Amino acid sequence: MITLVINSGSSSLKYQVREGDDVLAEGLVERIGEAEVPDHAAALDCVDRDVAAALGDRGIDAVGHRVVHGGERFSEPVLIDNEITRAIERLNPLAPLHNPAAVTGIRAITDKWPDMPQVAVFDTAFHRTLPERAWRYAVPDELYRKYGIRRYGFHGTSHAYVAQGAAELLGEKAFTGVIAHLGNGASVTAVRAGESIDTSMGFTPLEGLVMGTRSGDIDPSILLFLLREGYSEQDLDTLLNRTSGLKGLAGTNDMRSVAEAAASGDDRAALAIEVASYRLAKYIGGYHVAVGGAQALVFTAGIGENAGDFRSAVVSKLGALGLELDEGLNAERSKKARTISTAASAFPVLVVPTDEEAAIAGATADVVRRS
Ligand code: ADP
Repeated sequence: MITLVINSGSSSLKYQVREGDDVLAEGLVERIGEAEVPDHAAALDCVDRDVAAALGDRGIDAVGHRVVHGGERFSEPVLIDNEITRAIERLNPLAPLHNPAAVTGIRAITDKWPDMPQVAVFDTAFHRTLPERAWRYAVPDELYRKYGIRRYGFHGTSHAYVAQGAAELLGEKAFTGVIAHLGNGASVTAVRAGESIDTSMGFTPLEGLVMGTRSGDIDPSILLFLLREGYSEQDLDTLLNRTSGLKGLAGTNDMRSVAEAAASGDDRAALAIEVASYRLAKYIGGYHVAVGGAQALVFTAGIGENAGDFRSAVVSKLGALGLELDEGLNAERSKKARTISTAASAFPVLVVPTDEEAAIAGATADVVRRS
């Protein structure tokens, strides 16, 4: 089955065409809304041209969409119809930057190819198994009932894919352990018997770890304090989402630059790595307890897969759990799933590369075959 995977942003559209593990075409259409590409329909025409050139006389069989927010309704990928599209649209207030773009992408495909099977794959779906004690905030119940204020969790497609990969590497049927997805956005998930039981992102992808430009956990009173100091809602949004995290501490959001700066003696960069790795180590300790003893700790995504020094900074703080990295294995560069701990480590530390497009394409093909 040839699948087109679409990740729609408000002004960009990322796509990949896959047949099983083969990537037949991929690309990014940017600046949607400007003269050359006035809307998502025009962006899709660009994709169609590229795809036709790559596929020749073959065509796309199905489209899989990455949808950030599936709210409380969606616990797995679904075949899209008008009702599903409207349900995704109703979740717009929960993901105001992301879901409207996904809906626009879905409607553009429906207009262009009315008979094309389309599947929505949700970032939140894997975390629908969180027990209530993990998803509740300790605030009046009315906030949950009226606004849906609770923890949802994100990066679920990646965490689910990596949990599967870790189980295969360990020779287990289902994975129990801790997965750290460390990209520009970062989250850590506690997985028990293949199910997510806790995760660091919450109502939005802002909670939890120190990220490229996001603060992660802070005392909420800081916001009240800054409001009284004259900060506007927009100022706070920018502060928490765009100018905090590694960027706030070290001046750049890119881990490669932070690591290089730290290695050449920049104290702020070294501090940023310490704050980020300490925060993550605390979560890992907590989630080791939550899952009842991890089978493995898994690193994934841009930083998790490539930044050996950062992995080392994290694991060096987990000596109390009996974890020990093999620094030789940790320094190796590889795109394969692998073990990077010593034989003496209390449980293995793994690197399992994530591939959200592969996961979305796989889920799309499954849903279409079943329907
Ligand atoms: P996104 O969340 O945008 O998908 P990625 O998963 O691509 O992000 O991760 C991006 C992060 O990975 C950046 O901070 C980047 O600096 C970091 N990264 C990528 N390669 C390396 C590397 N070789 N060493 C250190 N950090 C790396």
